[in-house]
Amino acid sequence: MSDLLLDLGGNKAARSVMSTIGIPVPPQLSRARGPWEERPLEGRTILVGGSGHLHATIAPALARAGAAVGPDDHVERGPYRDASEAFARPIAGIEDGGHGIVFDGTALATVADLRQLYDVFHPHVRALRRNGRVVVLGRHPSAASSPEGAAVASALDGFVRSLAKELGRKGSTANLVHVDADAEDRLEPVLRFLLSDRSVYVDGQPLHVTATCAGDLPAFSPRILSGRVVLVTGAAQGIGRATARRLALEGAKVVVLDRPAEASAIADLARELDGVPLPVDITDADAPQVIAERMEELGGLYAVIHNAGVTRDKTLGRMDEPRWDLLMDVNLGAILRIQAALEAGPLQDGGRVVLLSSIAGLAGNPGQTNYAASKAAVAGLTRALGPVLAPRGIGVCAIAPGFIETRMTAAIPFGTREAGRRLSNLSQGGLPADVAEVLTFLASPYALGLTGGVLRVCGGSLIGA
Ligand code: NAD
Repeated sequence: MSDLLLDLGGNKAARSVMSTIGIPVPPQLSRARGPWEERPLEGRTILVGGSGHLHATIAPALARAGAAVGPDDHVERGPYRDASEAFARPIAGIEDGGHGIVFDGTALATVADLRQLYDVFHPHVRALRRNGRVVVLGRHPSAASSPEGAAVASALDGFVRSLAKELGRKGSTANLVHVDADAEDRLEPVLRFLLSDRSVYVDGQPLHVTATCAGDLPAFSPRILSGRVVLVTGAAQGIGRATARRLALEGAKVVVLDRPAEASAIADLARELDGVPLPVDITDADAPQVIAERMEELGGLYAVIHNAGVTRDKTLGRMDEPRWDLLMDVNLGAILRIQAALEAGPLQDGGRVVLLSSIAGLAGNPGQTNYAASKAAVAGLTRALGPVLAPRGIGVCAIAPGFIETRMTAAIPFGTREAGRRLSNLSQGGLPADVAEVLTFLASPYALGLTGGVLRVCGGSLIGA
């Protein structure tokens, strides 16, 4: 469904009228489409600041991604000089404002150290270009050796959330990455993703890069999912369909599963993607076995995206039993049963499991006690399953989408729909393709450092933030 304010904002004359009469103009977001580029930051200038431990990791990572890097005056220049020589990229000047800022806060330990945030950002943040990207790196507060250290590490969270709210009207985002000391070699793809246009609707969020999941991170390679089978449930429309299409661009053999009533839609999609249609109702008693057997026939399963989901809204006192029971079975029971069958059979070691929670599950929503319970359960399942599957090198992540422009949200009454769109830092809903970018990243070997967590894909929505 089209967003009138956003459409008008795309027109220069209308934008000027809107500004004059005081109607907030949602920013036009720049999005990257197509398969991942080897150098997603080509032509971009990134300012790097902060006195942390990660500069030897950040410098070559940014150079490999194609960025021109401008280290702040207080940053040790050695790693950046070496990287610029190795990749024949000049060290950049950042006087005119860059496309991004990376702040390494992994060495912050005292209240006085927090001043670095002000010193690095204050002179540059207003010059950050539209659709800019800020990534703040820190240690997880639980790793601090003193209460002051934990407090200082926690400060980064509030800083990033607030900065994200300040930057949103320019279409820019800010995110926080906690990097464990033994997982620094897993940071690079996360950094590339967050600094690129692929992360357009991830805003104000903390991610945690750990060494929990066994395995080795591959170097960037085009069509990284070639020869790998990825199952997407609920693939006939919306987020699932966009994700199936996106995965195929990385070379995946995509199994597109949906209800038998959607058989013709998934047959068409499978033909388009050279994928495999699987018309199955996930709540059927034999669904786990049917799905597992099909995956075995295909030679095993690399990743599953448990995307199929339904809403059955009613306030609790008015909710009939079928609304509760059917929803709980689609959104939770079926996932548990299918996941168990996949783990016991076709799911390969080193694979990925990605689940769909929702910000409604984190924040609660009137009329959605059933839905929110199921989506909070999915978040809990993700946290519990991560450590269980980590020894097999299987990463488990969930995302919690905010307001995404799909048939599900088009059915919401006008007033609620407008509120859902505007109550985010970016003043607009996300697109299924924005969510598909995140799901594809999490379903890839590049996400090795991410497991057991829930990432909101909500444009920094105020709901439940
Ligand atoms: P959608 O309704 O457009 O698509 C869901 C798909 O799941 C449909 O194709 C449907 O046929 C399929 N499905 C439903 N029941 C099934 C069953 N029993 N067996 C097999 N397939 C079944 O939904 P969407 O908006 O694309 O959402 C996808 C996921 O994202 C859902 O889990 C949803 O809860 C979650 N989500 C969506 C939003 C949003 O704003 N759209 C926000 C938060 C979370």
